Amino acid sequence: MSQVKASTTKKRSSSAKSKKEDKHAASAKVAPCEPCDSLSACFERHVSNGLSSVEGDYQTLFSALALSVKEQMLPNWQQTRMQDSQYKAKQVAYLSLEFLMGRALSNALLNLDITDESIKVLKPYAVQLESLEEQEHDAGLGNGGLGRLAACFLDSCATLDLSVTGYGIRYEYGMFAQKLSEGHQVERPDRWLRDGNPWEVRVPTHNVIVPFFGRSESYVDRDGLRQFTWADTQDVLAVAYDMPIPGYHNGRINTLRLWKAEATDDFDLAEFNQGDYTEAVARKNLAEQITMVLYPNDASENGKELRLRQQYFLSSASLQDILNKWVARHGADFTDFAKLNVMQLNDTHPSVAIPELMRLLMDKYGLSWDSAWQITSETMAYTNHTLLPEALERWPVRLFAHMLPRLLDIIYEINARYLDVVAHHWPGDVTKLAQMSIIEEGPEPNIRMAYLAIVASFSVNGVAGLHTQLLTSGLFKDFYQLWPEKFNNKTNGVTPRRWLAQSNPELARLLTKRLGEGWVTDLSHLNALNAFTDDTELLDVWMQVKQHNKQRLAGLVTQECGVNFDPTMMFDVQVKRIHEYKRQLLNILHVIHLYHQAERGDTKALTPRCVLLGGKAAPGYAMAKLIIKLANNVAHMVNSDPRVKPYLRFAFLPNYNVSAMEVICPGTDLSEQISTAGKEASGTGNMKFMMNGALTIGTLDGANIEMLEEVGEDNFFLFGLNASEVEGIKPHYDPQSFIDQSPALSEVLALLESGHFNLLEPGIFDPIIASIRNPHDPWMIAADFESYRVAQVKAANAYRDQHHWAQMSMRNTAASGRFSSDVTIGQYRDEIWRV
Ligand SMILES: *Cc1c(COP(=O)(O)O)cnc(C)c1O
Repeated sequence: MSQVKASTTKKRSSSAKSKKEDKHAASAKVAPCEPCDSLSACFERHVSNGLSSVEGDYQTLFSALALSVKEQMLPNWQQTRMQDSQYKAKQVAYLSLEFLMGRALSNALLNLDITDESIKVLKPYAVQLESLEEQEHDAGLGNGGLGRLAACFLDSCATLDLSVTGYGIRYEYGMFAQKLSEGHQVERPDRWLRDGNPWEVRVPTHNVIVPFFGRSESYVDRDGLRQFTWADTQDVLAVAYDMPIPGYHNGRINTLRLWKAEATDDFDLAEFNQGDYTEAVARKNLAEQITMVLYPNDASENGKELRLRQQYFLSSASLQDILNKWVARHGADFTDFAKLNVMQLNDTHPSVAIPELMRLLMDKYGLSWDSAWQITSETMAYTNHTLLPEALERWPVRLFAHMLPRLLDIIYEINARYLDVVAHHWPGDVTKLAQMSIIEEGPEPNIRMAYLAIVASFSVNGVAGLHTQLLTSGLFKDFYQLWPEKFNNKTNGVTPRRWLAQSNPELARLLTKRLGEGWVTDLSHLNALNAFTDDTELLDVWMQVKQHNKQRLAGLVTQECGVNFDPTMMFDVQVKRIHEYKRQLLNILHVIHLYHQAERGDTKALTPRCVLLGGKAAPGYAMAKLIIKLANNVAHMVNSDPRVKPYLRFAFLPNYNVSAMEVICPGTDLSEQISTAGKEASGTGNMKFMMNGALTIGTLDGANIEMLEEVGEDNFFLFGLNASEVEGIKPHYDPQSFIDQSPALSEVLALLESGHFNLLEPGIFDPIIASIRNPHDPWMIAADFESYRVAQVKAANAYRDQHHWAQMSMRNTAASGRFSSDVTIGQYRDEIWRV
C-alpha cells in the first residue's frame, strides 16, 4: 500500500535531508498535509498558555514540548487513519493486556526527525533536552518481556508502514515502583498519570458498552430461528484513549488505543431512581476498578476475578470498535471481513475475544454459527509466550457462568463441535477427548484458555526456535498432530530505533559514519562491521564509546544504589524480572565465589568486575523476594570489605524499567542470560545487550540459541545443560553429587550456611539453601554451577585482552541484525497476517 508522506520531516529542510528521507518513503503517493503550526510556535503557545512560573519548571516545559510534538503529528495521524479506513490493505489488531512503552518523547523526536529542531526551540529557555526527557514518567503498562515485545512491535509496524492498531488497557496504576528497605523489596503505587499524559487523546466518539453478569436467554425469532440474548447485564462504559505511534521517517502515525472503564449513565440513572444514592456511587467505583491497576505477575497467572474482567473488558471493547469501523464502511455485510481483518492475541490473556467475536457476530449482527465461526477462525491468531505450567491460564467454569454466561454457552458449543473432530481423528480414544477438551473436568471444572485459542486460531506461534519446537513436541503435541499447518515460529526481536539509535547515540553516530544510515531500518547492514574487525582505529573508538556508556551507567548505579562502579572494571549485568527459572540465584552464588576468592587473597586469576543485578519480583512471589534480599545482603558484605574492593563490586539496582534499560544495555560488557534450558521462551533483553556490543554468557535457551548461531561460539560464553539434558537428569537429579564435584560450590554453600551474609537475621536464607539441595529443584542450580563458573573464568580472561574483546564486541553488534523486530514483524506480515 502507499505511504503517507512525512510532512513534519519535510517542512524544515527541502534539500539534502529530504533526499535521504525519500529513500525511506520511496513509495510516497499521498499528498502531504502541513502541521497547523511550526514546532516552535506550538511550543511558545503551550508555554504561555500554561503557567505563571515557567522558569525552572521542567515538568511544564516537558508537557509543552510533548504537546507540541503531538500536535505536529496530528495531520499525519488523521491522514493515516483516513487512508486505513478505506481497507485497501488488511487491518491488524494487536490485542495485549500489556504495553510496556516506557517514555515517548525521545522516541517521537527520533522517528519524526525533529530532535535538532527541538534543541533549537529550547535554546532560549536554557534547558537541556535531556533534562526535559527525564521529566516524563514511564508508561509502565506491562510486566516485562511480553509487554515490551508489544511496544517494540508497534514501532516496527509503523516503520514498516503496516496498518496495525494496538489495543490495550489504560491502567491508572502501571507496574509498581520498587523500593528497597533493609534489602527487602517494597512496592509503591505507580501513579504515572499524576502530571497528566500529554500524548493521549480521549476519543469519546468511540465509546462502547461492555456487558457483565446477567443471564443468557434464548428465544425463537419471527423466522422460527433460535436466537440468544444476554439479559439483565451490568454495563460498563469503555472510553478510548489514543496514543500516536510514529513510524521512522515515513509519515505513518499508527494508534495505540487504550480503554478506560467508566460507569455508564444508564447504570447510574437506574440506581439513582431507586433512590439508592450511595449504592449508585459505590457501583460507579466498581466499574472504574476494572482499569485501575496492572496485575504485577510475570509468567504466572493469579486467577483473580478482576483479572478476567480486565481481559473481557479489553476484548469486547476492541472487537466492538473493530466491528463498528467495519460496519461504518461496509454495512453489516461481513463477506470480506476475514480477508481484511486479523487479530493477533498476545498470549491467551485476550483469548476471551474468541467467544466474544462469535457472540457479536451472531447476537448483534444475526450471523449463523457457521458464518460466525468461519470468520472467527480465519481472523484469530495466537502467540504463545511460555511453557511454564503456572502461567497457563485456566478460568473456573463457575466464574464464567456468573460473569460471562453467554460466552460460556458459546465456549461449550465450540468445544462440542471441536471434540467431534478429535473423535474422528482418534476413533474410540476417550482419554484423548478428556486430555484435549477445552474444559478440564474435575471437582472445579476449568476452561483451558490456550486450548480455546489453538482451536479457534488459524495460526499458533512460539517466540523462538527452541520454544516452538518444545510446543509442538510437548505441551501442544496432540494439537500439532491434528493441525500441523497452524503452527509456526516467530523469533522475537527488539526495535533498533529505541534500543540502538536512541539509547546509544554515540554508537549510532559511529555506525552511521562507517556504514551509512540504512541500518536504522535495515539492521542487516550491521553485518558490514565484520569487515572492520582488524581496523585498530575503529576498535579504539568502539571501546571509547563503550567507556563513555559505562560512565553513564556508573552514574546511575551511584545515584540509585550508592555503590561506586569503576568503568575500567568489567561490567557484568543481569537485569530482568526476578524468577527462579531465570536463575539470578546462580549469579549471586558466583558473586559469593568471587568474593570468597578476593577476601582470602586468592586474587591472581581475578579480573576486576562490577556486577549489577536488577528486577522486580511479583509481590506474592516469596522466593523471588528472598533472592532480592540475598543479593542485597551479599552486596553489603562485598562492598564493605576493603580487600575485595579492587576486584569486585556488587549492586542491586532498584526499580528496573524501560528507562533504566536504556542506560544499562549500552554500558554492559557481559550480559547474563542464564535461565535453565527449556524455560525462557525467547528473551529479548539478551538481544538489546547484543545489539549494544555486550558479550553474552548464557545457556542454550530461548533466542540465545539463535544468537549463538549468528555470532559463533568464539564470541559467546556458553555453558550448562541443554533442554533435553535437563529433562533427562530430572528423574534422578542428585544435587549433592554436583556439590561434591565442585569445590567452589561447596565453599559457597558452606559460607551461605554459616550465616555469613545474615549474621543478624539467622536462618532467613534457609529456603534458598534448601532449594539448591532439593533433588526436585526444577531449575538445576547445582547441576549448572561448575560449568557456569568455568565460563565466567573464560569471560574474565578474555576481558583482559581488550583488543580481542573489542573485536568480539563488534562481532556481536554485527550479528545482531536478525534480532530487529522489523525482521520479526516482516515475518508476521508475510506468514501470518498476509497483508
Ligand atoms: C527487555 C525488557 C525486559 C525483558 O527482559 P528479559 O531479559 O528478556 O526477560 C523486561 N523488562 C524491561 C524493562 C525490558 O526493557
